Amino acid sequence: LKLNDADLPQLVKASAAPLTVPTFTRGGSVKQGIVHIGVGGFHRAHFAYYMNQLMEKHGLADYAICGVGLQPWDSAMRDALAGQDYLYTLVERSAKGSAAHVVGSIQNFLFAPDDREAVIAKMAHADTHIVSLTITESGYFYNEHTHELQSDDPAIQHDLDPANADTPSTTFGFLYAALVRRRAAGLKPFTVLSCDNMHRNGSITRSMLETFAKLRGDADVAAWIADKVAFPNSMVDRITPQTAPADKVALAETFGIEDAWPVVTEPFMQWVIEDRFSDGRPPLEKVGVQVVADVLDVEQFEKHKLRLLNGSHSALGYPGQLAGFSYVHEVMNHPDFHKFVWQMMQQEVKPMLPAIEGVDIDAYCHTLIERFENPTIMDQLPRICLGGSGKIPKFIMPSIAEAIWVTAPFRRLCFVAAAWFHYVNGVDDNGNKFEVDDPMREELQEKAAEGGADPRPLLSIGTLFGDDLRNDERFVKELTTALGLIRKDGILKTLPKYID
Ligand code: NAD
Repeated sequence: LKLNDADLPQLVKASAAPLTVPTFTRGGSVKQGIVHIGVGGFHRAHFAYYMNQLMEKHGLADYAICGVGLQPWDSAMRDALAGQDYLYTLVERSAKGSAAHVVGSIQNFLFAPDDREAVIAKMAHADTHIVSLTITESGYFYNEHTHELQSDDPAIQHDLDPANADTPSTTFGFLYAALVRRRAAGLKPFTVLSCDNMHRNGSITRSMLETFAKLRGDADVAAWIADKVAFPNSMVDRITPQTAPADKVALAETFGIEDAWPVVTEPFMQWVIEDRFSDGRPPLEKVGVQVVADVLDVEQFEKHKLRLLNGSHSALGYPGQLAGFSYVHEVMNHPDFHKFVWQMMQQEVKPMLPAIEGVDIDAYCHTLIERFENPTIMDQLPRICLGGSGKIPKFIMPSIAEAIWVTAPFRRLCFVAAAWFHYVNGVDDNGNKFEVDDPMREELQEKAAEGGADPRPLLSIGTLFGDDLRNDERFVKELTTALGLIRKDGILKTLPKYID
């Protein structure tokens, strides 16, 4: 059956496997309180699903979501959703089986390239309380090294020109235009809620928008934004690979649903969010979101996630791809990798992490192992590996840097860093070439070629590595050893030397 509002009851009857569908009112008197920019897989598996639960279980009727696409390719999402009453299927898969949920919290979609005014008007509407974002790191125009807005980017330049005030193209152009209108109308500013995977995502969004506003030149508006808009920081987690063509076929076969763009994800989901909103918020804690008082609380959860989940993903990704694997669960199935990741977490990462009240860190590690082992979500290694220059310095190096201070062990972490140093050459251990998807690829490959078995040219990249690492003899020696072994013997023969 094709997915649409009218056939929801029939869908449940026809499905051969567990399926839930929305029974709450959609459209009509329901208010669209959230405008979300960047309706990709992750938003649909995470925020939109939390909101779906609030609507289904708690009758929430003033926080439906209006999706927004700013990029030309978002027309595909508009067409997929518009063709099925903005419904889509979220499939939760694990080794224990799969369950599907038709999600009804998204109730509208605006494609900005076709009608920019409609997007500004929607954000400026009194019903809108939150504008949320999953726009990937590139959408923030954030220079990681200077911590400033990339104000010379042509898209930002376009939006800073007052002549284009009503036809912006970037997220900041739209946010600014809508906030100007809300201020003029005497409305409270909406909350700007970043759900992207960035350390201090809310603070970065705030800083970028404040800079944009100052450069726009209206000091009163800039001061109002700085003073009144809330930008909560949050830690988000739910592994959501890109939808594969086979996922649509499986959905039709198992659940009898014809869906133009379903989402496949794991059963686990987590969201820790700072309680800071400028125009009210939905009662997120009712559906398991951890709403915390302080940004420092978010940071502690984030540190656990970045170093244990993302760090382990790097430990599976770069060595795994070099060894010729394609998916995360395949790497986990290899007994040496399994031991390696567990020992890295337990012996080298965990000792550097803060204790969080109520969090059992060993239980968290066990859950991670189970999540990585999930054979059904088919999480692609290239997805885990892309943009390594932004990942290794955040997920692996901080654990090493802290271990250096307290002379704790870091051999396994060095193996992961060395695997990435070798990975950037784009050739696996069987001599097969693969694409290195990284904004710094050229520079990385140049330095890797210059160094060969010597990691120091790559380590000299000042925007990635600090002097604390570069100048530490023990670290450089360990990294050189690991790189030498990986180059000479390959990953699978080297790995046993890094497990007990
Ligand atoms: P996706 O490719 O399915 O969707 C990305 C969305 O971002 C698209 O709608 C795209 O148009 C939009 N976008 C990209 N560049 C933009 C720009 N410059 N301005 C405005 N919009 C832009 O990807 P996804 O899996 O939904 O992941 C999106 C983000 O969610 C990630 O970058 C990450 O920060 C976060 N996240 C993802 C996962 C996951 O497992 N997929 C987990 C945690 C967090």
